[in-house]
Amino acid sequence: MMTFEEIGIEERLVKAVTDLGYVNPTPIQEKAIPVLLGGTTDFIGLAQTGTGKTAAFGIPLLSVINASEKHPQALVVCPTRELCMQIVNEIELFKKYMPAIQVIAVYGGTSIGMQIRDIKRGVQIVVATPGRLIDLIERKAINLEQIKYVVLDEADEMLNMGFQEDIEFILQNTPKRESTWLFSATMPAEIRRVSKKYMQSPVEVTVGKMNTANKSIDHQFYVTSAQHRYEALKRLIDFNPGIYGIIFTRTKADAQEIAERLTREGYDIDALHGDLTQGQRDKVMGEFREKTLQLLIATDVAARGIDVKDITHVINYELPDDIEVYTHRSGRTGRAGNTGICMSIVHSREIGRLRQIERIVQVPFHKLEIPTGKDVCRKQFFHFMDKLLQADVSHGDYETYVPMLAEKFADLSKEEILKRVAALEFDRFLKYYENAEDLNARDRAREPRERRPLASSGAAGAAGQGRDFRREPRTRETNGAGAGNGEYMRLFVNLGTKDGFYKASFLQFILDMSDLRKEVLGRIDMKEMNSWIEVDRNSANQMIQSIDGKKYKGRRIRMNDANSR
Ligand code: AMP
Repeated sequence: MMTFEEIGIEERLVKAVTDLGYVNPTPIQEKAIPVLLGGTTDFIGLAQTGTGKTAAFGIPLLSVINASEKHPQALVVCPTRELCMQIVNEIELFKKYMPAIQVIAVYGGTSIGMQIRDIKRGVQIVVATPGRLIDLIERKAINLEQIKYVVLDEADEMLNMGFQEDIEFILQNTPKRESTWLFSATMPAEIRRVSKKYMQSPVEVTVGKMNTANKSIDHQFYVTSAQHRYEALKRLIDFNPGIYGIIFTRTKADAQEIAERLTREGYDIDALHGDLTQGQRDKVMGEFREKTLQLLIATDVAARGIDVKDITHVINYELPDDIEVYTHRSGRTGRAGNTGICMSIVHSREIGRLRQIERIVQVPFHKLEIPTGKDVCRKQFFHFMDKLLQADVSHGDYETYVPMLAEKFADLSKEEILKRVAALEFDRFLKYYENAEDLNARDRAREPRERRPLASSGAAGAAGQGRDFRREPRTRETNGAGAGNGEYMRLFVNLGTKDGFYKASFLQFILDMSDLRKEVLGRIDMKEMNSWIEVDRNSANQMIQSIDGKKYKGRRIRMNDANSR
């Protein structure tokens, strides 16, 4: 691995990047910087966002600029206001020891007068969005005649957004252009055409595989039904207590609605979509960057160009139509050597498309189960306990109160105190998830129990039917699992859907109560008031003894052999 000195950048810049904590150049920097330092070579860098490409062009720009000439010499064109500001912020950091070089961001949605004044003050590097730049050119507030270097950042995004003509206009009106540096995550035919027309024998560098999602991202998917999508989202958020993430939806109506629902339910979330004014957008982004907001929900268009550090999770509330959009979405996490997780909530009908995406990005996707309510509670519990252990008690005047506290808690054991702390923190979760249903859409072909039509009554005959159907997989299950001999007893229980149970939550409930494993169960028929459960004969008594006579929501549970009724 090379060092920044070795790739040939000057000392002031090495010092600045070292101050930023950069140790080694990233692959795109290693490949681009030595070429670009010459200042005269056209260059195409195929790299995703997050690979360090801002420094890959920003550092060479600072090297080739003539600091004593106070007019625009370099133009960086990028698709969005956010990206524009980020590029300027980064270049400001790189030029820490080069005070004579001035850089400015020009973008729409804000006073053009101020930007004109700033340009007049004498800047060498202009970072612009295409629309505002054209505006400035038309007002003769910026002169492209002296521009020597043009950088097109996220060129594919700019074309997606319909800026092709503007880009060509800019390239046609920079007569003194010595080199053009084009960065793009993908290489659609239109970009190839633009590069052929306006660039001369460009050096082309690809970092990672083109169209390939970042390898440091774990791609996960969760299969649920359409009506459980929102619940599944919530459960995934709850299962990841330290999450700092972006959720993507296809429509702004979805983004808005989900943000509102989650906010009502106590989550730190806000939406980013096309209906926001620039001021509202800045406010949301500011809060997200400062981590006052834990979650951002956005449409693809609204999220363009956002580069926020340390995103732990990207969640696709729905899959995007376009495979390349998936790469853009997932690329918001796992940046600059960090790892990240990209989760997709999909319907079973979408698995085919997901597999298609997987083939194209060439990274294996992992199918994971949507966590159960119990899983969520356990995870939250340990997260909280870790926080408790790590709490910083060095600042407050705790010592003053400790003797009083010790006296107050004298009769309570450590376990009791912990229990109380946990109860305070977890009541909401425990209540919410007490009878939480299974949100996973089960693979019906592999789960015969789900495939059979529900019995219309609790008649014993229905049980016989079911046994035949299930015999084969059952023998496999019991091999070594110790579940029993495949003979069922049909049990009656006076609990049903009226008690707030769904099949999955009911199953969980009876297994938890009886401390049995789900392999002992056969078919479950639930009615409003009562249910019938097939249980392996060897385990049936244990279940009856554990459940019969116990109370549920104040009502006595009755459980017995259905045939003996
Ligand atoms: P970019 O692809 O330019 O958006 O960069 C993604 C992130 O990587 C930014 O937050 C940079 O500050 C960071 N970064 C860029 N180059 C390096 C490097 N050589 N070492 C560590 N971090 C870097």
